[in-house]
Amino acid sequence: VPGGGPEGLKPIWVEHPDLEAMGRRGFARFRAVFGREPHGIWMAPGRANLNGEHIDFLGGRCLPMALPYGTLVAAAPRTDGLLRMRTLEPSLDTGIVEVPVDSIGPGSPEGWSGYVAGALWALKIAAQEHPDLSVPEGFGADLLVRSTLPVGGGLSSSAALECAAILAFLALATGRTDLDDTTRAVLARACMMAEVEVVGAATGGLDQTASLRSKPGHILSLDCRDFTIKHHPAADLLDGHRLVGVDTSTPHWLGGHEFSSRRQDAEAAARFLGADRLRDLLPETPTRTDVDAVLERWDAAAPSSSELEGRDPADARRRLTHALTEMLRSERIDALLRHGATAEMAGGSAGELGRILTEGHVSMRDDAQASFPTADLIVATANQAGAAGARLIGGGFGGSVLTLLPMDQVDHVVSAIDRAVVSAGMPRPRFLCIEPSAPGG
Ligand code: ADP
Repeated sequence: VPGGGPEGLKPIWVEHPDLEAMGRRGFARFRAVFGREPHGIWMAPGRANLNGEHIDFLGGRCLPMALPYGTLVAAAPRTDGLLRMRTLEPSLDTGIVEVPVDSIGPGSPEGWSGYVAGALWALKIAAQEHPDLSVPEGFGADLLVRSTLPVGGGLSSSAALECAAILAFLALATGRTDLDDTTRAVLARACMMAEVEVVGAATGGLDQTASLRSKPGHILSLDCRDFTIKHHPAADLLDGHRLVGVDTSTPHWLGGHEFSSRRQDAEAAARFLGADRLRDLLPETPTRTDVDAVLERWDAAAPSSSELEGRDPADARRRLTHALTEMLRSERIDALLRHGATAEMAGGSAGELGRILTEGHVSMRDDAQASFPTADLIVATANQAGAAGARLIGGGFGGSVLTLLPMDQVDHVVSAIDRAVVSAGMPRPRFLCIEPSAPGG
């Protein structure tokens, strides 16, 4: 470790990418790889979520924002029905991957190219209902991928890839680049379908919506019952604080199938309680009393594993608790965004947001059971060192922590986290400026 030990270390910040310079290099690399000119470069961002993990697929509310980090796709059309793709991500690059467009479908192709191919497959399906999205017969593309996001870092590099790819396909096939929110919503749904059907990942639409429908300087309030959105200015909420992301350098695929298992627990619990969608068990404006009433109903019924589609009852109750309290936390942040802090909230809106973030972490740790030692250490250290709050974001089992820091405490808290993680012998964290940024385009 440079610096000779924790005391001498300077925290590692991931710099904001210079998109223009990257674009110029992207053109040159595309020429070198494919021997022709790209027709353009499209970008879609990753996301950070203030609250709403593991509840998009249950109809809960999520509060994401687009990041200044994202995935770039340089592309040119083909007319021979082939998709030829290469990624510059060193851990995934095996040269050009070639896929006949007609062969794309559930489970195929496998690996990273499934996200890109899936986006084209889903665009063609969306076009059946929206003819203005149609691609011509024999359409294919050459496509080069480069990202500034950590891959598997819980900041949605997968959605950024799908979304950048679908924007490229749509522009190449139809010339459309100036997209209204209705079209962006259709594309977000298509990207979610690509990931569920072609890649086989249990995503619920939060990531794709954040990547395509966010607004700079704003928090997106997304109601996953019907995917309606509202944009709220972030500055009022943050009130002199900054959001800093901590990439733990622990990719979340180490958790294997754990994320889908959490989803199955929660969905089995919802079905047992007679709801297609767990969110429907709570009223429009839920309170803690409403959450407790559902949990009391559950305890009185004491379902067995066979009544829960074979899921473990204790696990199902924990997932139920996480989901219901996470839904409540989202509504609390949504109310903060709409009405500001009340007089009883110590520290104003940032104080309240900080408390909700940390409560969310505890729920991810104890009820979703999706946290891991580095994330727990970062949250505890951040809070001891002066953060207003902190939590694990993304699906869990690896990934990133979001911290809310008073402006004048940023360097102090970041150094404390860096030292604590290094002293514990864990992989060196990387820090990211989390600023609500522009959606894909
Ligand atoms: P994340 O939290 O980053 O979205 P996921 O496991 O959901 O993590 O997605 C990571 C996967 O997305 C990678 O394994 C790879 O298949 C694909 N992916 C993401 N970024 C890139 C990239 N730059 N190039 C190629 N594939 C990528």
